[in-house]
This record gives sequence, C-alpha cells and structure tokens, in this order.
Amino acid sequence: MSDCLFCKIIAGDIPSTKVYEDDAIYAFRDINPQAPTHVLVIPKTHIASVNGVCADNSAVIAHIFEVIPTIAKAEGLVSGYRVVSNCGPDAGQTVHHLHFHILGGKELSLDMA
Ligand code: AMP
Ligand code: ZN
Repeated sequence: MSDCLFCKIIAGDIPSTKVYEDDAIYAFRDINPQAPTHVLVIPKTHIASVNGVCADNSAVIAHIFEVIPTIAKAEGLVSGYRVVSNCGPDAGQTVHHLHFHILGGKELSLDMA
C-alpha cells in the first residue's frame, strides 16, 4: 500500500535498522523502544491487523512465529521475551500494517491492561 509506513520501510523508502529479512517477512528495531530490546516483525504483504488474518494469508503468520525464536536468540533474550500485536484503537494500534513487537532485555511488567 502506497501510504503505509511499514510498506515504505519494506520498500526501503523509509530507513530502518534491519534485524532479519527473508522473502516473506522483515524485522527491524522499533524507533521508540519500550524495552532494551524492541524489535518489530512484519509480513512483506500488507495485512492491516490481526483482524486481517485469514486462511489465504495465515502461512506468513506461522512463518513469523517460526522465525521469532531465531531473532530472540540472536538478540540474546535468553531469560525470555514478550510478543505483542496491538489490534485496533482500544489496543493503541498506531500503524495499520500487521506487526509483532518482540520485547525483552529486562524483567517486563506484568501489567497488560
Ligand atoms: P503499534 O502502536 O502497536 O501500532 O506499534 C507501532 C510501533 O511502530 C510503535 O512502537 C512505534 O514506535 C513504531 N514505529 C513507528 N514509526 C517507526 C519507524 N519509522 N521505524 C521503526 N519503528 C517505528
Ligand atoms: Zn503496509
């Protein structure tokens, strides 16, 4: 999508700090980190949010979750980490291209709401 921030990052039109890339997904450092390690993992195909996941595109979501442990290991998150996807206004979703936050590098707050 031409007006999507994360599609522009995938295209290289907006700079980002790459952590991982393959044919289907891209991972990069969050510009406003909420933890010592804060990585965003996104599908290269535009999906607006978790609500946009369906049988036709869910293989890339499985792939993201296959790769997340590899990214976490490479980032040294040996004590654990959190994976979060905000969906819609009540969750505070600000970028409408599906993304999974990987947060770690400290003992995370359990306050989820
Ligand atoms: P969410 O609030 O779940 O939609 O998350 C969007 C995330 O994208 C936030 O954590 C932002 O800090 C992050 N973000 C916004 N713009 C950029 C950018 N240009 N590069 C990296 N991360 C970004
Ligand atoms: Zn997009």
